[in-house]
Amino acid sequence: MWTLKKLLYRCAHFAMSIAFKRINVPIPELLSGPGSIRQLPGIIQETAATKLLLVTDKGISSIGLAGDLLEDLSNTNLGCTVFDDVQPNPSIANVEAGLKVYLDEQCDGIIAFGGGSAMDCAKLIGARAANPDKPVLVMSGGFKVKNALPPLFAVPTTAGTGSECTLAAVITNPDVREKFAVASDKIVPAYAVLDPQLMVSLPPHITAHTGMDALTHAIEAYVGKAGTPFTDEHAEKAVKIIFADLEQVFADGSDLEKRSNLAYASYCAGLAFTRALVGYVHAIAHNLGGLYGVPHGLANAIVLPYILEFSREDCESKLARLAVVGGLGDPQESDRELSHRFIEKIRSMNENMGIPTRVAEIQTSDIPLIARRALAEGNPGYPVPRLMHQDQCEALLRQLI
Ligand code: NAD
Repeated sequence: MWTLKKLLYRCAHFAMSIAFKRINVPIPELLSGPGSIRQLPGIIQETAATKLLLVTDKGISSIGLAGDLLEDLSNTNLGCTVFDDVQPNPSIANVEAGLKVYLDEQCDGIIAFGGGSAMDCAKLIGARAANPDKPVLVMSGGFKVKNALPPLFAVPTTAGTGSECTLAAVITNPDVREKFAVASDKIVPAYAVLDPQLMVSLPPHITAHTGMDALTHAIEAYVGKAGTPFTDEHAEKAVKIIFADLEQVFADGSDLEKRSNLAYASYCAGLAFTRALVGYVHAIAHNLGGLYGVPHGLANAIVLPYILEFSREDCESKLARLAVVGGLGDPQESDRELSHRFIEKIRSMNENMGIPTRVAEIQTSDIPLIARRALAEGNPGYPVPRLMHQDQCEALLRQLI
């Protein structure tokens, strides 16, 4: 039975990889570098937007991170209303609350200002505004957003999810404590601003979690079966930068050059995974987020070495190549040796940045449910190097307790 299922999944992956190569995912126009946020009002003036909804969360608004931008917008006579009720692992209710403000204030453009939570919520506020007859749940899955969004400007303040350049928005359905994705080329932001000055205030633990999230995107896109030269190139760039800079930025968050590098790495990883997809690390992490609210990057960081160990033999040469790209060895060494070293490097990064090896929240009684949901998302949704069945997934989850 499992052999037959595996065959069917692989057929689906083959079809997906062909279909994905035909989809022309837009790439946002990019502003980057320290202070680049100050160019945004000028860019907005060139579009049809005149009254913006700035979507963010309370943590960000409490430190006034958008202060300069709000001042610049008002100096350029662009109207702006702030909606800062986005929660981590944002919910459908957050989207609906933001939509209400968007409509009440007669906005015609959106600034997504924050981490993945704010950016994903902003994407779906835009999708709802442009498609009023489609509730968020109806847009769940692939390519169900019909009408184009109002102008959407993404300003990531973590590095990160890459949401500023992806076709996904991940949202939580609190009724069933489950996360799901809306995926559509229509929700890719038109503009992205990578300003490292907006990331200096990130505390070390969030720098670590979000950096490991970006690393996971790059690795899962690279070892999966839907990669292309474009996605491989961007995944390699991301791994190289994150290996070189993340631990140093964790130790000294004020280094603007390295913050800039990490913002670019996260963007590159986003470009890669939005075309080549992710894998079981994400499938499990989404469920740890949905069930227990575990921060997405933290969940990915913890699960990553376990899944790589599970898949290692089936993606040995790719892990070896990433090890070389990441400066861990040279191509003359055996793939086996290099791939082990690559996984060891991730373990040591986690340890050095205080990321645990277990997930305290997991309840033994939830394991069958988590495994079922993760595999429903991953099989055949993600073109993983090694397929996993229920018993294997449950065994892996038990290692996490
Ligand atoms: P987040 O957006 O939830 O932010 C985490 C915390 O960091 C928040 O408390 C926030 O206030 C704070 N914060 C953000 N920027 C800050 C700054 N510069 N200074 C100080 N504090 C700051 O975290 P995240 O990891 O960026 O996003 C996670 C969400 O993104 C999850 O819901 C995940 O599923 C989703 N995600 C989406 C995609 C996609 O392609 N759309 C990809 C990966 C993850």
